[in-house]
Amino acid sequence: MSQARDTRPSAPRDGYQDAYRDDFNGTVPTAPLQAPQHASPRQEPRLLAAGPEADWARHLEAFGPWEPQAGGPGLLDALGASGLTGRGGAAFETWRKATAAAGTGKKGVFTARPVVIANGAEGEPLSFKDRTLLAHAPHLVLDGLFALGGALGGAGLYVYAPAVTLPPVQQALAERPGGKRVRVVQSPETFISGESSAVVNMIGNGAAVPTDQRRRLSESGLHGRPTLVVNVETLAQVALIARYGAPWFREAGTPTDPGTRLVSVSGPAPVRDVVLEVPGGADLSAVLAEAGMPSGSVSAVLVGGYHGRWVRPAEHALSPVGPPARTVRPGAGVIHALGTDACGIQATAGIVSYLAGQSARQCGPCMFGLPAMASVLNRIAGGERNPRLTAELDRLGRLVSGRGACRHPEGTTGLVGSALEVFAADFRAHLSGYCAAPGGAAA
Ligand code: SF4
Repeated sequence: MSQARDTRPSAPRDGYQDAYRDDFNGTVPTAPLQAPQHASPRQEPRLLAAGPEADWARHLEAFGPWEPQAGGPGLLDALGASGLTGRGGAAFETWRKATAAAGTGKKGVFTARPVVIANGAEGEPLSFKDRTLLAHAPHLVLDGLFALGGALGGAGLYVYAPAVTLPPVQQALAERPGGKRVRVVQSPETFISGESSAVVNMIGNGAAVPTDQRRRLSESGLHGRPTLVVNVETLAQVALIARYGAPWFREAGTPTDPGTRLVSVSGPAPVRDVVLEVPGGADLSAVLAEAGMPSGSVSAVLVGGYHGRWVRPAEHALSPVGPPARTVRPGAGVIHALGTDACGIQATAGIVSYLAGQSARQCGPCMFGLPAMASVLNRIAGGERNPRLTAELDRLGRLVSGRGACRHPEGTTGLVGSALEVFAADFRAHLSGYCAAPGGAAA
């Protein structure tokens, strides 16, 4: 279950990017954003530039006027030129996804009107950047939603988000022109509630469970219409591209990972949870340092969330593209550091136990295989001396992978695979009856 998190804004620090913390001091740009003069890892904040809990007036003051024609047909070309990829996890090219939904649907002899859904579901327990964005910049997300809806020829519009974010979203809809066009649906607090087909099912029939997608949602989604489910941060990026253009967007980041992204950074006490806006291709160690975790203070980092990957903190760029030895995919923007006294196997066992409990219990391999994996991991974490246990983990992983209606099993086995690699020495130690981490259960 997601933990309730404090989404109050905080001060942009003299640091890497805009860090939202409790002590926000209002240091935000008061003029519309301009293209940065030179590339720098310490560029101005973009997505949260309007400051805390920005209303319609402050939003327009920070970002400039909103032109309804920003969502014209040229937007899809601009998105293609920008290189924007989804910020919700899978990192699909946004223009490609949008183009697929544009005008593909037929209902009988009629063309079905498309649907665009702003997906703010954040069932991942370590993620809090989307609810922070919705709390402080709901109008930027809505700008992107209206823009994409316009580019798709007047699509039906939805916001799907957890209860904690609904008040700012509803207030934003009430104070802006055209807000009544948007339907708001509350997402449940389950891990898989943000999976695209689960989003469509929840809005359509009230059950946030994934379905095997023989037909793509872009062809037949909500009520049989072409449906585009887009992460809320991706929509906020769309809004910036609609205003300032693709070249401006590319001023940040790298040629293969342009723009910025929000990351939810957490770590061992006394490190506080923080949302940072970082450029594409950012150095993971630099991001950790900015969040108050200098090198040497963490033993491993979970990047991408519970369906992500463990890495050692050094030498990794945060990017969806690049060689795995030097790059780690940000997924939904989760960065969680493990303290030097914590046991990586114990941490992984806890996560897999959680994930096993989050199966939608529709597919046998997922329903039975994930609890079995959790059980094996817990036995290893507890110090059971059985050298066959790691082979059993491997066997179970192959058994469940690719055997579900959604990617929950693959996400889980990917995490376990990275733990076997990064904590290889710890696995050997545990199977010999001891744990090298002072805080481990088998220590
Ligand atoms: S793979 Fe698991 S989580 Fe996904 S639909 Fe099947 S049972 Fe549900």
